[in-house]
Amino acid sequence: MASIDGGGSLAPPSCESCNAAMTLIGRLPRILLRPSVHVFRCFSCDNVISEEHRASESSQDQELTVPGV
Ligand SMILES: [Zn+2]
Repeated sequence: MASIDGGGSLAPPSCESCNAAMTLIGRLPRILLRPSVHVFRCFSCDNVISEEHRASESSQDQELTVPGV
C-alpha cells in the first residue's frame, strides 16, 4: 500500500522517455463514470501522457456491478 499523500498537492510524474519532470498542461473534467484526466507534457522530449485521477473528494469508486438477477 502506498500512502505518500503530502496533503493533496499534485506531484507531476516523471517522463518515461527522459525521466524529466513533466508539466501539467491540461485537465479534463470528470464525466459521468469516467475519472478526471490530467494531461502532462515533457518539455524536454515532447512526450505527452494522460493520467486518470479519481476524485478523492468524491465518495468512492463506482464499479459497474450487475445486481443479482
Ligand atoms: Zn521526456
